[in-house]
Amino acid sequence: MQLLCPLCGSEYPFEISVRLCPKCGSSLFVVYDISLNEYKRILMEARSRWYLGIWSFHGVLPARSIGKTLGEGWTPTIRLEHFSKANGVEVFVKNESRNPSGTFIDRGTAVDSYLAYSTGSKNVVSASTGDYAISLSMYAKVYGLSVTHYIPNFIEQWKKYMLMLLGDEIISVDDYDKAIKKALRMSNKNGLYLSIPLSPIVIDGYRTLVFELIDVLSNVDWIATPVGDGLLATSILKGLKEVEHVLGIETPNILAVKLSEERDAMQESSKLFLTELRGGVVKSLLSKIMSGKGVFIDVDKEAIYLTANEIANTDGVVVDPVGATSLAGIKIAKDLGVIGKGDKVLAIVSGSPSKDTYILYKILEYSSNRKPGKVLSVKEDSISSIQEAILKILYEEKQCHAYGIWKKLRVQGYNITLQTVHDHIKKLLNKGFIRELGYDGRRRIYAVSELGKEYLESMHD
Ligand SMILES: [Zn+2]
Repeated sequence: MQLLCPLCGSEYPFEISVRLCPKCGSSLFVVYDISLNEYKRILMEARSRWYLGIWSFHGVLPARSIGKTLGEGWTPTIRLEHFSKANGVEVFVKNESRNPSGTFIDRGTAVDSYLAYSTGSKNVVSASTGDYAISLSMYAKVYGLSVTHYIPNFIEQWKKYMLMLLGDEIISVDDYDKAIKKALRMSNKNGLYLSIPLSPIVIDGYRTLVFELIDVLSNVDWIATPVGDGLLATSILKGLKEVEHVLGIETPNILAVKLSEERDAMQESSKLFLTELRGGVVKSLLSKIMSGKGVFIDVDKEAIYLTANEIANTDGVVVDPVGATSLAGIKIAKDLGVIGKGDKVLAIVSGSPSKDTYILYKILEYSSNRKPGKVLSVKEDSISSIQEAILKILYEEKQCHAYGIWKKLRVQGYNITLQTVHDHIKKLLNKGFIRELGYDGRRRIYAVSELGKEYLESMHD
């Protein structure tokens, strides 16, 4: 095996500790020294060994032997009948939310954990924004590895609870950059295995999703993929190039769909733009390997909520809104004429159905045919969604002042003023759901009352 830099073309011998190209900082690709016939045999025979999970492709994974599985991979591909009809395109969905942790990430961490284990590591250090951490901890358990996670402190509370449940060490830092730097330093200093998404090993795990599609690849015109940190799209492109080379089939174009960072895009939900991906090396790398085979599309949050609502409402497919990004992109691309009428599109959908009440409420808000009876009457009997969020924050924090609550609400996506938070606190005090603990000289401190706790419990009945 070798490592190849897809950006500057440098080649290196495969080494477990190398993550990025030392010359240009790009992600690296693993190149396998096996014959075309052997490659072909592995790809064609994998389906009959589906019970091995991604290890059905072990001959073209960096480990080269069979690791343990939690049931990742071989996710279903389904046709969205109503969505297709409504949008004038044939849409199929590769449902990656059916992986053990609810995302495609399991494909990468399954391989990385096995490599850490099989090269004699006992302790792993990682930096990520939550989903990767949860997935890694799950697979680390399988091999008895312990993980130290560096996590930005803004990640959702439920993810922190999930990590606590999995029993690994969590160190909160200010942002993702710091998380990466600290993890790197700790890995270098103590010789610990570094598990991060930006790794040729993880990329090769991710690309197995393309190998599972070889029967349909020549029949679709587009693959729509979400672009978060750019690694999934990179992995898919690597997989497609391999399939093209080994099996000699023509593969579809890529529709790379990215959540727009423009705040003012919110006011023009239907007017969206073809843009380039921001941010240095990943952008250059993606542009280079897409070369003529792909298009970038920007979507905003509204479009994503609308789409999540639409597919739940018409096709019975419930995914996290972020997981619906690729489908939102298909609608835009169709409107812009990038995708033609009747084109066949395969969308990669990831992210398990959200159990977060705030997110579910947001999806409901975007319903085009909301049935007001149920949702609204329950709301009137009880408290507003913001008050509920405040209650939850106080419950999780044990105690907090209005300013602290306001900051947490902002992180959760509530765009409200501090004064509004004070108003809601007043209402909650009147209802007896919270109580004032005291005054620290600067701010009033609040906590959930017994009645408030009862209310929170009743929500789960
Ligand atoms: Zn390079």
